[in-house]
Amino acid sequence: MPLFVIGLKLTMTVRTRIAPSPTGDPHLGTAYIALFNLAFARQHGGEFILRIEDTDQQRSTPESEQAILDSLRWLGIEWAEGPDIGGPYGPYRQSERGSIYQDYAQQLVRDGHAFYCFATSEELDELRRYQTENKLPIGYDGRGLDLSTEEVQARLEAGDPYVIRMKIPSQGSCKFNDMLRGEIEIEWSQVDMQVLLKNDGLPTYHLANVVDDHLMGITHVLRGEEWINSAPKHILLYQYFGWDMPELCHLPLLRNPDKSKLSKRKNPTSILYYQRMGYLPEAMLNYLGRMGWSMPDEREKFTRQEMFEHFDIQRVSLGGPIFDQEKLSWLNGMWLREDISDAEFMQRMQSWAVNSDYLAPVVPLIKPRVEKFSDVIPLAGFFLSGMPDISSDDLVNSKVDNDLLRKTLQFTLWHLEALRSWDKDDIFAICKSMAQSMEVKPKDLFALLFVAITGNANSVSVFDAMVILGPDLSRARLRHALQLMGTPSKKEAKRWDKEYRTL
Ligand code: GLU
Repeated sequence: MPLFVIGLKLTMTVRTRIAPSPTGDPHLGTAYIALFNLAFARQHGGEFILRIEDTDQQRSTPESEQAILDSLRWLGIEWAEGPDIGGPYGPYRQSERGSIYQDYAQQLVRDGHAFYCFATSEELDELRRYQTENKLPIGYDGRGLDLSTEEVQARLEAGDPYVIRMKIPSQGSCKFNDMLRGEIEIEWSQVDMQVLLKNDGLPTYHLANVVDDHLMGITHVLRGEEWINSAPKHILLYQYFGWDMPELCHLPLLRNPDKSKLSKRKNPTSILYYQRMGYLPEAMLNYLGRMGWSMPDEREKFTRQEMFEHFDIQRVSLGGPIFDQEKLSWLNGMWLREDISDAEFMQRMQSWAVNSDYLAPVVPLIKPRVEKFSDVIPLAGFFLSGMPDISSDDLVNSKVDNDLLRKTLQFTLWHLEALRSWDKDDIFAICKSMAQSMEVKPKDLFALLFVAITGNANSVSVFDAMVILGPDLSRARLRHALQLMGTPSKKEAKRWDKEYRTL
């Protein structure tokens, strides 16, 4: 078994993990962090595993989990243990590990490191109001700490709902080492008495994550920098349990070309979108490998294997790596030209979308509208293309105020972004009700959608087309149309957001 030496004290197999929460589309950020964890494990002859963090039962779905697994695999990221393949430390889905967390939470209470809190949400709202009004720091005030053992016992016996919170030192600070950032210090006063076990008996991220990283033998936690502020809670939990702490490494977050945090408002973030657009997984992985990292000779194009051979986490630069679709396209073009033979090009294109699985549902839409095969591509080419070739002139409607139309399109898009089941009736219902609530004639909104999706004012049914194109490409085309009509400014977006919530 390959060994890794940390300082002088320990010798162990490196084990890293990716721990996605299956609450939405498979995110580029997940793939990027997974790739760096895999590269780090490979570099040290260690193992990389996948764990599903689905403790948020409201938002987690099996479809999202499947999409994450499928898209990581499509990219060429493979794991040695995981919910789909099992392994010696399973189960690898947190929803199947419920009793484990219960036991550890109870242990912390018994050892005096955590406590019951029976505060209702009304009480906590009241506390927040009081703190806001009196300009006090906002946060839990530790009221559960004042309960005597008898009181706690009585309330538990009465069946009162409770949560378990962790104790936090009242003074001083937490100092810890980050593999890339060196020593980080965070005052304990900045850290809240985190809920560890919720009133539905399920753990929060913090408890489940620490318990699982320990039980699954994780030696290095490489994750996004948004988790830095959670590190003190995790470190304290390791101390409370008396466990060795894994090394921490917070990787820089991916950014939009304007340096803001990568967000789907500005850039498609779902891996499925890139798959639908026809990027090669090798090129995607290569580009993700360039996020904050470079080969020693700075070459831009490299294979997964080459990356693993030369990987060195210390060469990750902390300046926010920019995910730029144009750059990705350029790199993808190089891969296509240099690494894919003509025969393979054809075969890859077929498996991408030029196949009967994808095109079968297109046929009944186009058959009634063509007279010969040569009519097909002009009518239905948009099923095989990226963004349609349209301009803002194609989207204006002389009878409807442009700002009202933009806003209606944005609201429709927001609604469609939250839609889980991508079926025709639901899409239609959303578009229709959005038009009605904005007092726009449905046919005016539909005409706009028509052009945005098909690139043409006269094509096949737009709702059928959206179903076939799938959520990622459809949403991207609507976003593209909105950009052409004028992306809302920050101020406008804020106003719209408020208005949208009241609908
Ligand atoms: N479930 C967390 C996420 O979705 C994992 C964070 C971590 O790696 O600790 O990002």
